[in-house]
Amino acid sequence: MKLSYRKKRYILYSLITLIAICIPFININGNQIFLLSFDHKELHLMGIAFNVQELYLMPFLLIMLFIGIFFMTTLGGRIWCGWSCPQTIFRVIYRDLIETKLLKLRKKISDKQQKPTYDTKNVIKKIIAITLFSCIALIASAVFLFYFVPPKEFFAYLSQPLEHKVLLTFWLCIAGFLVFDITFMAENFCIYVCPYARVQSVLYDNDTIMAIYDNGRGGLVYDNVGNLLAPPQKQDKNNECINCHQCVKVCPTHIDIRKGMQLECINCLECVDACTDVMGKLQKPTLVNWSSPNAIQTKTKIKYLRSKTIGYMIVLAIIFGIMLVMGSKKEPVLVNIDRNTQLYEIRKNGAIDNFYIFLFENTDKKDHRYSFEILNQEGIEIIRPHHPIKVESKGKIKEVVILRAKNLAVNNAKNDALLPLKIRIYAIDDSAISIERKSIFVYPKEQVLQKALHSKK
Ligand code: SF4
Ligand code: SF4
Repeated sequence: MKLSYRKKRYILYSLITLIAICIPFININGNQIFLLSFDHKELHLMGIAFNVQELYLMPFLLIMLFIGIFFMTTLGGRIWCGWSCPQTIFRVIYRDLIETKLLKLRKKISDKQQKPTYDTKNVIKKIIAITLFSCIALIASAVFLFYFVPPKEFFAYLSQPLEHKVLLTFWLCIAGFLVFDITFMAENFCIYVCPYARVQSVLYDNDTIMAIYDNGRGGLVYDNVGNLLAPPQKQDKNNECINCHQCVKVCPTHIDIRKGMQLECINCLECVDACTDVMGKLQKPTLVNWSSPNAIQTKTKIKYLRSKTIGYMIVLAIIFGIMLVMGSKKEPVLVNIDRNTQLYEIRKNGAIDNFYIFLFENTDKKDHRYSFEILNQEGIEIIRPHHPIKVESKGKIKEVVILRAKNLAVNNAKNDALLPLKIRIYAIDDSAISIERKSIFVYPKEQVLQKALHSKK
């Protein structure tokens, strides 16, 4: 038996809901699959934690998101809207499950144009429906926040609500907006508010898949400027559309798909199911298909692979590849080296000291002790610190570093010599943690050095 699009959508909705709820609870190496924590200034992606200083992946993620949307829309129209958008999923839960199936406030799922009458009994039912959905909205907004605040911390914060008023306010506001949106705004959100509805028509081409009425078989229902014509079979008895309006009645955005592609269409394919039932009883194929204008006109297969879609796939693959390479170069410790404003200090014995501030940031899950060495300047020794630097997991420490050089054979006859430094910083308790940084050592010019030594005698 062939499943209707409605049933396929319900299966997908259940899967998406399950995945969305589970993802924040799945940890890889102690990190979430996705988390954007403003509190910890961290991004978790597929179990890798990126510090706020490492958010170089963020622009790539955004580019991927936008190109992904362009690709998906060019290929499948507003497939996201009808098949994955939380707005549509919540509307199905509220309108079809709670209002229609559970409370019988609406008569049928197949007739979305009939509004409930509000006598006392139905007003009570409406209040019950809104209350039930409010509980779902609270759970949904909590799940949404789990992508910004890890679930464990979320519940810990909620146990002390007065100390975490911002989180509490966010949670209640998101839930409140969801209740208002789903129970009052309904599909008006898709039609008037959602920006995606505005851009979709620009991305469509004649091979984009959408809900489409076959007016070649069914007969024209509207003229070129959208005026309603006589019923198709009255125009010509060979026209197959029997004008039963089942495809119109079932439409959640209250449009007639026989008018052609419209901004309001969310690609839910309810009209396709409706016409499949009607035409099926007449032993005929549906007049409303999930197909492309070209495929309907030329009676050929839908063209998925075309220059536009191939181009998007190539760009997406390139960006994904760049992200993989950059992600694999993630450093296990972050170290910023700042030089002191004082260029150098000349000691009595002719030694030259340079001063630095090393900022260590341990992005690992464990505490570590770090040390460092100069790789490329043999005459420069580390005066301070004397001991390894301990940095707690996720912690930061600033350390004053003094490097000293004496009697270096450098070209400093006329100017201060700027000696490039290559510094290896490593964890003494984990051989896998090792990074390199560059800086400079300033060695004074001969004249300044001799003058300073002379005055110190
Ligand atoms: S016309 Fe209406 S029922 Fe058909 S796919 Fe679009 S939104 Fe859904
Ligand atoms: S459901 Fe099919 S037959 Fe009935 S009005 Fe719509 S297109 Fe025509």
